[in-house]
Amino acid sequence: MFVNDLIVIGGGAAGLMATIQAAESGLNVLLLEKGFKLGRKILISGGGRCNVTNNKYSSIRDFLINYPRGSKFLWGPLSRFSNADLINWFESKGLKLKTEEDGRVFPITDNSQSVLDVLVNAASKAQAHIEVNKNVCRIEKENDLFHIYLQNEESYLSVNVLIACGGMSYQVTGSSGDAYEWAKYFGHKVIQPKPSLMGYLSPAKWVHALKGLTLTEVDLQLFYAQSLNDFDSLNNKSCNQNNNHQSILIAKQKGALLFTHWGISGPGVFKITSLAAGTNYAEGIFILKINLLPNIKKEELREVLKEKWKASPKRKVINAIEGLIPARLEGYIVSSMLWNPEKTYGEISNAELDQLIQYITALQIPINGIRPSGEEIVTAGGIDLNEIDSKTMQSKIVSGLYFAGEVIDIDGFTGGFNLQASWSTGWVAGNSIQV
Ligand SMILES: Cc1cc2nc3c(=O)[nH]c(=O)nc-3n(C[C@H](O)[C@H](O)[C@H](O)COP(=O)(O)OP(=O)(O)OC[C@H]3O[C@@H](n4cnc5c(N)ncnc54)[C@H](O)[C@@H]3O)c2cc1C
Repeated sequence: MFVNDLIVIGGGAAGLMATIQAAESGLNVLLLEKGFKLGRKILISGGGRCNVTNNKYSSIRDFLINYPRGSKFLWGPLSRFSNADLINWFESKGLKLKTEEDGRVFPITDNSQSVLDVLVNAASKAQAHIEVNKNVCRIEKENDLFHIYLQNEESYLSVNVLIACGGMSYQVTGSSGDAYEWAKYFGHKVIQPKPSLMGYLSPAKWVHALKGLTLTEVDLQLFYAQSLNDFDSLNNKSCNQNNNHQSILIAKQKGALLFTHWGISGPGVFKITSLAAGTNYAEGIFILKINLLPNIKKEELREVLKEKWKASPKRKVINAIEGLIPARLEGYIVSSMLWNPEKTYGEISNAELDQLIQYITALQIPINGIRPSGEEIVTAGGIDLNEIDSKTMQSKIVSGLYFAGEVIDIDGFTGGFNLQASWSTGWVAGNSIQV
């Protein structure tokens, strides 16, 4: 039977990058992909535009802030193949890219198909062999050779194997966690895979009613408590007044929030779910507190409101925070104050001012879970990094066995960071494998 220099399992970002690099360096490479086509996750990435990386940070150290797990390990692969290297790499292969204001990098076509086309063309130009509809179900190693078996018992031989099967998110794209069992078979530890980067469900009807509203840059803090009584009573009218709060801060971040008909979503919320990955939302009570005006100190806000009210003491309270926050949310807050609509600015008490400030700087959204499993953008957890050499991506347990991409225990925030981790680890693996 023909012996390949390298078999890559998985035709996503990591597998394709490794395939191209290894084939360009002269190796005989076979890529096995279980789906009917390559790069299905690349195609849906970035809303079909494929946010290939991020160009906002000038140093690797700053870039790595965007990885809640795996940043230390990723230092090595990123130092060898950074976001800047990736941009040059794509441009040298004929794909023009653009950087948007927030640092996210996309193909100028705004179409992920052009990213995939460049990868597939480069792999074919480097004479890599690609086979789709090949569902690998088992890998064994005997006499220094890997035997790779498909579900139909068809098999292949190779000196080296790269596992680039992705995590467990969006399983329709093929990533269904198959590789974790193979890694365990070879003695690797797998850190419990958990969903990351997804929306929160909220039972609050007022949240659903605000669907479509986006808050562009707010402060978000996720709190946990054993009972509702441990939270402030404000905007949570069913719980007791209780100053002896025992809520615990789980995660905090800045970012955008989008109201939906089931709860909340958006990049800021994704960051919170990423930092809190693995949390069991069925146990205890979870509340997301939002500071709607994070750039104004409470004292300044107090002065702004007092000045505004002093200037027109006869105006009705319904307009008390007009112009400060989005109108639809203003409506919710003002109605929560339960004011007599005939009341005027001049009649607002200090206690009511405090209450309003509390609403604006610590608006509480009850959380009762995350979106259904499979809808998360990325998987946190995966193959333990302690058992992989970051200089080569080779297993420290089995020689000739390599890993790259989302299958390993690295995950980042949204913004191009997850794809960059796949490109960098795939590039390093593809350039390290020799026969
Ligand atoms: C909706 C969505 C949008 C996203 N947008 C972005 C974005 O804009 N920017 C960003 O940086 N990240 C984004 N991500 C995350 C990013 O796409 C992934 O982290 C990245 O594509 C993972 O690449 P990978 O090569 O490791 O795995 P995958 O792309 O998942 O590829 C793994 C491949 O392995 C194959 N495979 C699995 N098991 C087997 C088997 N047994 N035999 C053979 N083949 C197998 C699969 O079919 C699949 O093709 C997004 C994710 C989602 C779900």
